[in-house]
Amino acid sequence: MRSEHLMELSGMGAKPRGHMERPGISAVTRRRALAQSAAGFAALTCGLTGCASGPKVPGTTPKMEAQYQDSPKGLAHCGICKHFISPNACEVVAGPVQGDGWCRFYAIF
Ligand code: SF4
Repeated sequence: MRSEHLMELSGMGAKPRGHMERPGISAVTRRRALAQSAAGFAALTCGLTGCASGPKVPGTTPKMEAQYQDSPKGLAHCGICKHFISPNACEVVAGPVQGDGWCRFYAIF
């Protein structure tokens, strides 16, 4: 790829003197680069945060099946679990849960 195209894609600097724009090609490349960078950013952030597609909904798994307990397991507890719905619900386990509780579905990512 020529350096002026790299500069154009990155949005850096002005076009070099005498630069000839090829109609259609640069616009499509720029559009594709923007679309790919947006999709890549979304994938990266969703991968890191577990992107929810909407508001969390309380779960239906019985506490006994989830082996839920009202106390933490080591440092693991509902308050830092990705399934926790503040102040006292969970998107996996049915019914109220404690911020200091824990169950086998505990996950932080
Ligand atoms: S540890 Fe279990 S009960 Fe607590 S929020 Fe996470 S999934 Fe729900």
